[in-house]
Amino acid sequence: MEATESSTPSLLIRYCPACGQPTFASNSPKSYHCSSCEFVLFLNPSAAVAVIVECDRHLLMAVRGAAPGQGMLDLPGGFVDPQETAEQALARELQEELGLTGVQPQYFASFPNIYPYRGIVYQTTDLIYTLALSDRPYLEAADDVAQVVWIHRDELVMDKIAFSSIRQAVGAYLNQVCPV
Ligand SMILES: [Zn+2]
Repeated sequence: MEATESSTPSLLIRYCPACGQPTFASNSPKSYHCSSCEFVLFLNPSAAVAVIVECDRHLLMAVRGAAPGQGMLDLPGGFVDPQETAEQALARELQEELGLTGVQPQYFASFPNIYPYRGIVYQTTDLIYTLALSDRPYLEAADDVAQVVWIHRDELVMDKIAFSSIRQAVGAYLNQVCPV
């Protein structure tokens, strides 16, 4: 299933968390406003990290084990936790999802994405890193990664990638077009 939905904030949120009235509505792509008590809640994009790993012209892709985009291809990565650097988040995710440690990915570019999960549409800013390896490491898929596959850079089918941001990132990487 294509992991896309409306980019407007979720309609699940109707009641104001400050006064409890059902007068809480989205007034911009990133905020809610209560017309009863003027409370405002901002829902700014969440930071997420992902890494393009290449070895011998093959890219490492993760098969998603959970919604959204279950069964589709993704890059290893995940959300940045509060008070965590992007680099720490990436190192943590590589260890949690692949058992991979001791590597130093390099920053590549960022792409916006939407992440629908259980009725809420999260806006994300995906920070993409790259990592070139000379040997394929032993990897153990875990967490929300069902399986890892190495796909030759000429045989990657973009439509099998779950998220538009990851499609854009991989496309830019393969064409070596770095957006500004
Ligand atoms: Zn209110």
